[in-house]
Amino acid sequence: MKEISDLYPSQDGNKNKREEIINLMNHLLSNMDQMKNEHSPLLNSKEKDRHPNYYEQITNDTVIPNIGEDYSTIVKEMTHLLDGHPYPNKNFFGNVVTTPSIASLIGTLTMCLSNGNSIWDAYGTAAAEAEIKVTAMLSELVGYNRQESLGYSTWGGQGAVFSSLRMAIARHAPNYKEEGIPNNLYCFASELSHYSLLRSIEATGIGTNHLMKVKVNEDHSMNIDDLSEKIEKVIQKGGTPLYIAATTGTTDTFGIDHMKEVKETCIHLENKYAIDPIFIHADSAMGGFYAFFNNYDFNNNPLAFSNDTLDALITIQDRLQHLHLADSVCFDFHKLGQTPYVNSFLLAKDKKDVSRLSISKEDSPYIGDRSYGNYHTSYTFECSRSGSSIVMYATLLEFGIEGYQKLLGHFLDFNLKLRSRLTSIFPNLAITNKFSPGPITTFRIYQGSENWDLERKGLLTEGEINQTNDLNKKIFEYMGEVRDKILWGDTSKVCYAEAKDTGCLVPIASTKLFITSPFTTTDEIDTIVFELEQILKKARKHSEAEKGDYVLV
Ligand SMILES: *Cc1c(COP(=O)(O)O)cnc(C)c1O
Repeated sequence: MKEISDLYPSQDGNKNKREEIINLMNHLLSNMDQMKNEHSPLLNSKEKDRHPNYYEQITNDTVIPNIGEDYSTIVKEMTHLLDGHPYPNKNFFGNVVTTPSIASLIGTLTMCLSNGNSIWDAYGTAAAEAEIKVTAMLSELVGYNRQESLGYSTWGGQGAVFSSLRMAIARHAPNYKEEGIPNNLYCFASELSHYSLLRSIEATGIGTNHLMKVKVNEDHSMNIDDLSEKIEKVIQKGGTPLYIAATTGTTDTFGIDHMKEVKETCIHLENKYAIDPIFIHADSAMGGFYAFFNNYDFNNNPLAFSNDTLDALITIQDRLQHLHLADSVCFDFHKLGQTPYVNSFLLAKDKKDVSRLSISKEDSPYIGDRSYGNYHTSYTFECSRSGSSIVMYATLLEFGIEGYQKLLGHFLDFNLKLRSRLTSIFPNLAITNKFSPGPITTFRIYQGSENWDLERKGLLTEGEINQTNDLNKKIFEYMGEVRDKILWGDTSKVCYAEAKDTGCLVPIASTKLFITSPFTTTDEIDTIVFELEQILKKARKHSEAEKGDYVLV
């Protein structure tokens, strides 16, 4: 048996130990590379056979070994875990999953090797320094004053929504930490916002009945008139409009709320009714990265984007240039930022909004209250935090502004070409997010020729809409069967359509293709078209054989 001290990197920096570690990594990386196939988004090109009792068997069979295993066994086990794993390569179009870039892996290694707790610089100097650097970099990007702003890494875009809501409550009711939540607070977000706000409203004790869902426009941005009406209604009934989540890049369709109009509406109503400023969080977890185009030279177009792509970028930039009007913003680096999970950054415009949440020194006796150490994040909901700012810092250095512009511009370009090919080839296919350019394309298949425009304008019955939903859900199943070739995404609620007969808002099911791989080129459009043809053939055959409730033509 090994000495326990053999289980660690060396204390003295000796070469033998380092080479042992490098060899293990080499082994793991080689094993993984052997499983890659550029034409399949699954490692080893197929899923592991997970029979119905697969997980039950694992539960029964797995134990902690009596004597620790040797490293070759451990690398073998890790390799086994990777077998059949989805791998975001050129044919991966599922929900947004990034291929972690090389610098993000180096950053992750640095984070693990230094193992600093970013709650306090006495324990995590590297993490603290990186957090301050990332705050400065992202402040510049969105147009915040870096002397006034404050940011930190947190548990996902969900964590950013939660803590920005806590900031909003503390600004409105400074004694809420001691006295509890006032009972008349209301929050607003579009009906296509992420469910993070619903969760946060529940967790803060505001209660989900106090979430006012605002209607969306055809480009899936929040309808400002409806927002204004809903806020006024709350005020007139004696409620306090507390918080707006302005989604800047919806998760399913990349609809972008008009930050400037949201802010102007707030100012107008705040003056009219003499109420406190409403806190605005830009839920930019997904779309914030397109702010990298804020200073792009659209006239000279140095990266030579096509005219269509340029137009789409201008549409996006037109909205994102106003991100700085929000009280806080978020960046999910594990989405478009090219890092592994979980790497999210919450950035507040005014550090006072954050510091109201600080815990007192007496209540944190073992951390942060010494004469040494100058950085104590006593305001985070988390206690220990990983040093994930190190990962974000490394990746920001790697890509630079131009690197992100190239990547994100490429995603946009791909989607524009994909949309036009799909609609030219399939007369029964409609792009359900056609007014929102971005890295996502959602589409819906119809039994006959497509009638999305009638559907979205409320001219079809609930039965008709649901019949098309059922057809699309069947198609999702067929798509799932060929995950080894293309990993398709889907959503059962890309948006709502009003039914002509019942007036109900019916969720619209759509296939959702999200491109996140730099390896995806326009060649893959051929693959998508070919595979979709096969799937539709199968669906058609099936409907004929079953004489089922739908007929594909
Ligand atoms: C993904 C997403 C979230 C949630 O982020 P997590 O990192 O998954 O916690 C919140 N809001 C939006 C708009 C998102 O796209």
